[in-house]
Amino acid sequence: MIRFFNTLSGSLEEFRPIKEGEVRLYTCGPTVYDYPHIGNYRAYIFEDLLKRFLLLAGFKVIHVMNITDVDDKTIKGAARQGLSLQEYTSRYIEAFFEDLKTLRIMPADIYPRATEHIPDMVRMVRGLLDKGYAYYKEGSVYFSIQKFPAYGRLAKIDLAELKAGARVDSDEYEKESVHDFALWKKAKEGEPFWETELGAGRPGWHIECSAMSTRYLGPSIDIHCGGIDNIFPHHENEIAQSEAYYGQKFVNYWLHCHHLVVDGEKMSKSKGNFYTLRDLLARGLNPVDLRFFLLSTHYRKMLNFTFDGLEQARASRQRVLDFVYELEHRTFAPGSEPENQVLAEKVLTDFRESLADDLNISAALAVLFDFIREINSRLSRDLLKQEDAVRVLRTVEEIDRVLAILPERKEEALPPELLEKIELRQKARKEKNFALADAIREELRQQGIVLEDTKEGVRWKRIK
Ligand code: AMP
Ligand code: ZN
Repeated sequence: MIRFFNTLSGSLEEFRPIKEGEVRLYTCGPTVYDYPHIGNYRAYIFEDLLKRFLLLAGFKVIHVMNITDVDDKTIKGAARQGLSLQEYTSRYIEAFFEDLKTLRIMPADIYPRATEHIPDMVRMVRGLLDKGYAYYKEGSVYFSIQKFPAYGRLAKIDLAELKAGARVDSDEYEKESVHDFALWKKAKEGEPFWETELGAGRPGWHIECSAMSTRYLGPSIDIHCGGIDNIFPHHENEIAQSEAYYGQKFVNYWLHCHHLVVDGEKMSKSKGNFYTLRDLLARGLNPVDLRFFLLSTHYRKMLNFTFDGLEQARASRQRVLDFVYELEHRTFAPGSEPENQVLAEKVLTDFRESLADDLNISAALAVLFDFIREINSRLSRDLLKQEDAVRVLRTVEEIDRVLAILPERKEEALPPELLEKIELRQKARKEKNFALADAIREELRQQGIVLEDTKEGVRWKRIK
């Protein structure tokens, strides 16, 4: 059974997709007004873990991530630099895609851009006006939250405390000031606008996600994600718009990750307490270590950013890399031991089951590291055979379909004839035929393979 913590119900729920074997997933993407900071990447890596787990569990995943390329911040940024909105946002969109690759985040199936979906948004706003959920005020259109009794359910806000008629134009606002929010903002002097049946203007931020989610995934979807800062007002408003318009449940499971913080404060652009991925790369950080750092704390726990924490993540990841290296570069006697095969089978099952429990990554990693310890111990007692080593390696690779922390370009395995030579040399050494052993070693060296005799046996390495 798979279960996730659903922000909407505030509890762990068994996961059942609308359509068997298929998951429709929408994740709120970046507002492309600047380079993302690594707090943003905590959210995207959590979503990547979720998606990779669902794939491992055998689901087909249809994933949509929007690009917010028009909002208060992008408009302000473009104006400051005297660029068109598109000129301004395109460099950040490019940088975003580059970062995703660097951090090994699987690409979404579609990255719809807000500016390319204005007609979808206009249609929804028009419909909300017609149904009486929205109203005009001085050329802008607002959603009337009094008309939608379920407003506040996601963020657990008491509607009774509302001040009737108060309105807000800003895309982001605090929970303390619950207001009717803008669906369509009347064009302002010097700002980009679209000439539409609603009048000249531009969409509010929230309607973008409602319209684009529905365009590609339909009016009801399985999972919608973001960071906890998205719960209010963004996701609350998305629910109001979509459910008022379509009259059906918008999202079955809302999953939100906690923040990456610095000294207890959310990492954010406005506080200035942030690092971009580029900042850290310039300091020589390996991005996959950062991935592992952001990945290895449970998504609903706050994660404190420190360089010590990064170093610990690097060291843990190195243990996995060393383990794989050892198995790939050692020679084993032919055959297999049933006990090793059982261990390999079990680690995969336990790893999957840990993640099925609301993505319990701590438990999943404990399973992996226990396995590594056990196999290492068996390795030192010479209890691993050739087939076992292959099976163990395959198992770790299977686990890495979710973690994505192993080196990408794996070295080619040695051809069997060279492995045979190594075996022959081992035999010669055992028989104290050192002349033969040394001759084989030299021959291998000429083919670019050096041998190293360790306490646990022989290891090979390619020389460049
Ligand atoms: P934005 O570009 O501000 O809309 O944010 C993009 C995503 O990053 C959203 O899902 C946010 O919830 C998430 N996010 C922003 N700051 C943090 C943070 N410090 N920790 C975790 N997630 C964050
Ligand atoms: Zn969104």
